[in-house]
Parts: sequence; C-alpha cells; structure tokens
Amino acid sequence: MPDVPPIPLAQLTTLRTGGMPDRMIEAHTTDELVDALRSAWADGAPLLVLGGGSNLLIGDEPFDGTVIRVGTSGIERLPSPRPGFERLRVQAGHDWDALVAYAVAEGLAGIEAMSGIPGTVGAAPVQNIGAYGQEIVQTLTEVELIDEHTGQVSTVPADELGLGFRTSVLKHHYGSVPERPGVILTVTLELEQVGRGERPVVGEQLRTALGLGPEASVSLAWVRDHVLDTRRRKGMVLDPEDPDTYSAGSFFQNAIVSPSFARTLPPECPRWPVMPDLDPVLVIPLAAYEGYVPRSASRESDVKVSAAWLIEHSGLRKGFKLPRSRAALSTKHALAITNRGNASADELAELARFIQGRVQSEFGLILQPEPVLVGVEL
Ligand SMILES: Cc1cc2nc3c(=O)[nH]c(=O)nc-3n(C[C@H](O)[C@H](O)[C@H](O)COP(=O)(O)OP(=O)(O)OC[C@H]3O[C@@H](n4cnc5c(N)ncnc54)[C@H](O)[C@@H]3O)c2cc1C
Repeated sequence: MPDVPPIPLAQLTTLRTGGMPDRMIEAHTTDELVDALRSAWADGAPLLVLGGGSNLLIGDEPFDGTVIRVGTSGIERLPSPRPGFERLRVQAGHDWDALVAYAVAEGLAGIEAMSGIPGTVGAAPVQNIGAYGQEIVQTLTEVELIDEHTGQVSTVPADELGLGFRTSVLKHHYGSVPERPGVILTVTLELEQVGRGERPVVGEQLRTALGLGPEASVSLAWVRDHVLDTRRRKGMVLDPEDPDTYSAGSFFQNAIVSPSFARTLPPECPRWPVMPDLDPVLVIPLAAYEGYVPRSASRESDVKVSAAWLIEHSGLRKGFKLPRSRAALSTKHALAITNRGNASADELAELARFIQGRVQSEFGLILQPEPVLVGVEL
C-alpha cells in the first residue's frame, strides 16, 4: 500500500485548516486507489478521500483515521454515439482545470466556462460544479464508482447521481451518511466538436459575465482566457500570492426559496427562477377515461436568490472580519470566507455563523454552507 508520512491537512486544503491524520495514502493508479479504499473500509477507521482540498473546511484536531489522496491522472478519448460529439474518460485525480485546458485546445465545447475551478475531476460531480451557467451535469454521461458497502466497481449513469444545485447523492458532511456512499474512479464527459474557430456564445449568463452581446462570436480559447481574467479579479483562481484565494470559493450557496418567501425579500435582491421538475406522465385507466385529459396543475417555480447580495445587505461588507479574528470575507467577493494567515477552523466557523445569524435576522433565511465540513459544525 503506498503509505506516505502524514502531513497536517492544513497543508493540503485551500482554506488552510485541518489537523494531522493518523495515516496517509497516496494512490497514483486506479488499482492502488481501489485497494486502498477496500482495505480502509475493511478497517472501519474513519476515512477521508482527498482531492485538491478546495471544498473542505476541516477541524484542527488530529484526524483519527486515514486520508487517501487521489493522485490518478489521464484522459482517454472515446467515440460518442452522437454525431459531432466525443467522449473523454478522465481519471478521478486529474486536475479539473488541466482537463478544461485540454478540451479547449482540442476544440471540444461544454466545460470552457468552468475554467479556473480548482480541484480534481473526481470531486467535480460530488457537488455538480458550475460557473457562469455551465454545470458538469450538462456534459457528464457516467462515472465509474466503487461502492462503499460492496467494494464493487460499477458504471453509474449521470442521471442516477442526483445532480442538483451544488449537490449530488455523494455529497455529505462528515459524520452524516451520503445517499450513495462511494468514490468516483473515472468521469466520462460528452463534449461537442466545435473546433478552434469563432462561434456564438451559448448562455446569457456567460455572455453577460464576459460583456458579450447575443451576436458575438468568439473561440473557446477566448472564452477560457476571459473567464480566467474575470475569476482572477474576484479572487476565484488559486494564487499563493493572493490571500483572497485562501478560501473554498463561495462559502455559502445561493438560497433556493419558495416564490411566496421570495416576495418578502427586497425587490432589488437578484433572483433567478429554478425550473420545476416536469409533471410526471399521467396514466388514466381506460375504465376511468371520460373523454378528456385534465389540465396538469401548474406550479410556480422556486426561486434562487443571491447569497452575496443578502450578505452585503445585512451590513457585512467585503473584507469584513470579527475583532481579533484571522478569518475575513474576501476583499473581492462577499461570498468567500478567507484565511488571512493561520486562522483556525474555529475562527472560520465563527465568522460563518456570524454571517448566517446576520442574514437570518435581517431576511429570515439561513444560508447553507457549500464546502464539506469535517470535524467542524456551524
Ligand atoms: C478559489 C476557489 C474557487 C472555486 N470556485 C468554484 C466554482 O466556481 N464553482 C464550483 O462549483 N466550485 C468552486 N470551488 C469549490 C471547489 O473547487 C470544487 O467543489 C471542486 O470540485 C472540489 O474539488 P477537490 O478535488 O478540491 O475536492 P476536495 O475538496 O478534496 O473534496 C471535496 C469533497 O469531495 C469528496 N471527494 C473528493 N474526491 C472524490 C472522489 N473521487 N469520489 C468521491 N468523493 C470525492 C471529498 O471526500 C470531499 O467530501 C472553488 C474553490 C476555490 C478554493
């Protein structure tokens, strides 16, 4: 087993917190990863699967268990049954942004707006990563998953992963049980072969972020470069020189609320409709059929509201920090909680709770954290 000397998790997480684990394993091949997982599960000791550490807030107490670092990499090109498309099967430990760079260079469209998101490919479906209107659910066809209960590896279609807004059946805070316990070994995406030339930009959210009109035509490389520039200005591309990036990206999720609750919020609060599920197929037994099909009940869609707006309008400006704390809101982005230098996990959690409290007393809703919590509670 490829055991390595353990190092504190604070050195492996972008929020820079986390204590020393008992044991650390680095898996560089799928076989090593599968063996390490099976033996850790058989052991029964606590287990943390670690990708890039960019979506984790880990407590500073020693981690009484095993950390498996996913270090597999590689991209395999596969034909797609859809004309004009191609599939990429990618190892779980492959760097996400390196995959985006590869796809863009090869003229494959579908993930370019997610340029600059840190972390590994295997963790991407865990919270259905997304940016500027693109989410991995739009291009993911299947994953290879090792099941925690059986230790068996199987191919799971994307529509069985419960991919929703920054969630899936795999995502869970430590101490709680996910809907489907398992670890992703490979991810298969289906991307459109569009080449390197200019083409219209799909998606209003992306066009708005890049300052483009509906008529604009640009290349995938142009989109990638400009997404990276835009993200850098917000401290959303990891940079060891920029403490605004010592974060887990957005710490709070945009809130999904009912239309009636949304009407209680100030009209200036940015909001977007969340499409309701389509009505299930209505089956009318022949004996009960009276010659007409009843109209399906129309339901107002839920509403997604901007957590950044709620935070700023509860009186907490960018850069806000509690007295004597080493945790602060990013000076560039009100949604990112940042570690300004040796902040403890407790200091970060204290700021998160303070923000939740302010937003709740001002607007009546509790913002939910986006990163996975390990040994920390809010
Ligand atoms: C500066 C910054 C900007 C960000 N911007 C965005 C953004 O725009 N959009 C967005 O969606 N996210 C964003 N994030 C969050 C983060 O980058 C993503 O969630 C990313 O997918 C996490 O990948 P990781 O490899 O670092 O996962 P980790 O943090 O290592 O792990 C996260 C969770 O996934 C589990 N996990 C890891 N690998 C696997 C696997 N192979 N199988 C099963 N479970 C696994 C871990 O056990 C853990 O529970 C940002 C983070 C930072 C720091």
